Amino acid sequence: MGSDRLNSLCEINYRTNFPLQVRQGKRRMKKPKPAKRSALSRRDFFKSAGAGLVASELVAAPANGLPGASATPIVPAAKSASPVRFKPGSGLTQISPNLYVLRDSCNVYVLKDGDHALLIDFGSGHVLNLLGQIGVTKVDAILHTHHHRDQCQGDARAVAERIPLHVPAHERHLFEDAENFWRNRHVFHLYHVANDFFTITHNLPVAGVLHDYETFHWGPHEFLIYPTPGHTIGSISLVGVVDGRKTAFTGDLIHSPGKVITLHDLQYEYMSTDGVDFATFSLQRLRELGPQFICPSHGEPFASVDAGFTDLISRMREWVRAYAPGTTLTLDNHPFAVTPHLVASYQTTSCFYAVISDSGKALFVDYGSASHNFIDSSLKSLSVHDRLRFIAHTVPELQARYGLKSVDVAMPSHMHDDHLNGFPYLARHYGTKVWCYDNMVDILQNPRGNNLGCTLAEVIKVDRSFHHGEKFKWEEFEFEVCHSPGHTEFQMAMFAEIDGARIAFTGDAVHPADGGAPYQLRHNVIFRNWVESDSHVRAVRSLLEHEPNIIAPGHTKPYVANKADLEDLKRRVEQEGQYFQDVIADPDTNFGLNPSWARLYPYQLAAKAGSTSTLELRVRNYRSKPMHLEAGLVLPEGWKASPDVATLDVPANSDGKTGFTVTIPDGWDPARPRVAVAADIVADEQYLGQVAEGVVDIEFT
Ligand SMILES: [Zn+2]
Ligand SMILES: [Zn+2]
Ligand SMILES: [Zn+2]
Repeated sequence: MGSDRLNSLCEINYRTNFPLQVRQGKRRMKKPKPAKRSALSRRDFFKSAGAGLVASELVAAPANGLPGASATPIVPAAKSASPVRFKPGSGLTQISPNLYVLRDSCNVYVLKDGDHALLIDFGSGHVLNLLGQIGVTKVDAILHTHHHRDQCQGDARAVAERIPLHVPAHERHLFEDAENFWRNRHVFHLYHVANDFFTITHNLPVAGVLHDYETFHWGPHEFLIYPTPGHTIGSISLVGVVDGRKTAFTGDLIHSPGKVITLHDLQYEYMSTDGVDFATFSLQRLRELGPQFICPSHGEPFASVDAGFTDLISRMREWVRAYAPGTTLTLDNHPFAVTPHLVASYQTTSCFYAVISDSGKALFVDYGSASHNFIDSSLKSLSVHDRLRFIAHTVPELQARYGLKSVDVAMPSHMHDDHLNGFPYLARHYGTKVWCYDNMVDILQNPRGNNLGCTLAEVIKVDRSFHHGEKFKWEEFEFEVCHSPGHTEFQMAMFAEIDGARIAFTGDAVHPADGGAPYQLRHNVIFRNWVESDSHVRAVRSLLEHEPNIIAPGHTKPYVANKADLEDLKRRVEQEGQYFQDVIADPDTNFGLNPSWARLYPYQLAAKAGSTSTLELRVRNYRSKPMHLEAGLVLPEGWKASPDVATLDVPANSDGKTGFTVTIPDGWDPARPRVAVAADIVADEQYLGQVAEGVVDIEFT
């Protein structure tokens, strides 16, 4: 059943056309999540654009409902942010008792419940002129599958008519902060070629955010918000039962059986097949949900889901094979058993390991993105406040092939987003507990506190923590946790005997060297991750002391530990301290290695206009004598800090801190929602200047 079915459906062509009743509906929608913050409040938006738009569009409305008309110019709405000049050539088509479609600049789906409607995508907004024909007097919400203009170009009218817009979480900034996007999007030197250029030209206020894997409730309906990146990287599909059929509104993931609307939208990076990788993965995962009917944004709704998806996956796979031989699609990644109770996924961005007990419970070490493409592409599409998008992977395969029954515990090898990006998902969907090494607790629970490499922009609640050298038992296995600094200060090594092998989970402490290097193992130095001159030495020594048989690293396949290679690495990291001495002017070289030795905490303060908060100056004194500091905050005009100058004495080789209160003026300009602040510092009578800084996100209520 495909377009045949649709052809047999009746076209609804009524001449009557009346304005919708406009009222704020509280009925039906269960707690749509309010937008947290927008530079332009909804009230301001209505003040500046809303009223005029209502008036002008409603005047134009009576001409818009004529049946069967071809795209016809209409009078542009004066002062409108998005004047509607044309209208679609056909009217509403009934698909099933309560589901209709209008073929506008995209397919606009109308789900009806009595005299209320829910719209999926909006096109030009012409649909509002037609809803009276089917007895709809109130539109409760518009849900968008993605940000492209053809989906939402008429949204200003919806806003004017007080219809709430709900948008995919990872594309929210492309709606409500579209003008900022346009100010910052590279056009010159273009290598990130993703078609985010197809975003709206003006800001649209967002009333609700559609979060991946959550459910949108409306009247008797429930829609699973399912991440289906591909056509855009933030795209979602909405999956729920409509008129007795499991229906998926898929945006532009698929156009029709075996086809996409464009291939160009499936390329984000120069030359790459990255979007095809996402699309094939999304198609496969969505198919596994068992939808019976697909409602695409372009093309005809269709029921031949299995064949249609299979054809599209295989056609895209064949093109990738021909164009970029050797490319592995994320869809084709599979875990493997290292030993009977230890399963490794090494093609995921960061390896993750499942220790699976005889009871079926699993302890995960790390759980990040599904592949390198899934993290690299997501990082490039992030807005300042967004979190790296997580797309679920591998657990169903561990259940099917390796006897996993529950994900009991997840432990990060270190605090990097590529290794723990999936932890919030595990906690929410499997009730997984998070355990970690002591010094990661604050980073996971207060991710805005520090400015460190690769911090995930989402709070992870920690259920248990371990100190250096602590041993614990989980199921039939024993583990030991050790501090393993170097790659980052916030990393553990964990040792366990599994199936007779002594396994070391090492995170990113050591990797096999690239071919051609004169050694087998290498370390890595990322100064922003908090590196001190002996960090790597301590990690490699600890590894040697524990004499592992197998190293289970954070990237690349597990490998057999070789003591001579580790000894060789130890010699080289010990020698590195001398290079640091040679090249850094300060004899206490850690001041030249750690950019965070003096820092403001939290680095990203969030505070309301008119409120007073505390900002701490935190200092690690690397001198072998006490350090005396004086510091004052450098703030935007009108802000107040107390004290004006703080003094701080930090003992030798120790940490110290002092606090300031910071008051943000009540009438702070909403057009400046994020500002930088700095600390001007004198240390031991030497004027260092503004060597520490942070940012403040101002919240407006
Ligand atoms: Zn699109
Ligand atoms: Zn890392
Ligand atoms: Zn890593």
